[in-house]
Amino acid sequence: MEPHTTPTAAPKVRARAVTRTFGHSGRQVHALGPLDLDVQHGEFCCVVGPSGCGKSTFLRIVAGLVRPSGGEVELRAGRRHPAAMIPQDYGIYDWKTVLANVRFGLDVQRVPRKAANARARDWLDRLGLADFADAYPAALSGGMRQRVAIARALAVEPEVLLMDEPFAALDAQLRTILQDELLAVCQATRITALFVTHSLEEAIVLGDRVVVMSARPGRVIAERRPPFERPRTGQLRRSPEFAALQSELWELLRGEVQTGAGGAAMAQSAGKRS
Ligand code: ADP
Ligand code: MG
Repeated sequence: MEPHTTPTAAPKVRARAVTRTFGHSGRQVHALGPLDLDVQHGEFCCVVGPSGCGKSTFLRIVAGLVRPSGGEVELRAGRRHPAAMIPQDYGIYDWKTVLANVRFGLDVQRVPRKAANARARDWLDRLGLADFADAYPAALSGGMRQRVAIARALAVEPEVLLMDEPFAALDAQLRTILQDELLAVCQATRITALFVTHSLEEAIVLGDRVVVMSARPGRVIAERRPPFERPRTGQLRRSPEFAALQSELWELLRGEVQTGAGGAAMAQSAGKRS
């Protein structure tokens, strides 16, 4: 297998001194930055940080959905293999069938219908949704809707995959299953991923690198490389290195986590293992 990162090639995502401020005249909220980050080709980069520190804002800036107030962002992805984003709310269309949802990006790319259907069905199959191709999202559980969002993003065979807390709304068991599935898919396809989460556990399982953000306005305060070889499996959660790294990251974050929803959520996800 090729090495997972090729530092000599240009990074797929390159952010320099990115800032974002919201509001006008009266009250200004400095939401983000200045933030610098490179994500290399084939790298799975996880970003963790307290709630409200600007993680979603950063991801939207990388996706081109929000303009930075300052700094520069480059996202390198091709026309045939574009970037795909899985937003925090899944972003699936309730009025389209599961198959049509998964085919959506292919329709945008004008892939011929027969080939698009075949590719969409293949992804539905891989994510255990084959029997639900003709169902509408309203008939699906939260976990299944999440899988539809993942299948839709992966169906375009993206070069870069942007994910915003894609498993946050799921129960712990399902989250573990989907993390393992994502791990398998990413290792098989050598996708470049930028994955935002508030779960340290998730970041350590999935990431080649875990980038820690400060409280708002979010900046990079540290990064660690989980010392686990690929291909990984979910088993690594039980290793002593895993627990050690989780504690270390939690120590880094502790000072950044304020009281409130973000603090509670992070304390919970860190506490599970310590
Ligand atoms: P995170 O994803 O880390 O929880 P966000 O990026 O969603 O954080 O938000 C960072 C800060 O920016 C928060 O204080 C939030 O209220 C503010 N913010 C985000 N989007 C907007 C917006 N569209 N308008 C005004 N404020 C916003
Ligand atoms: Mg967010």
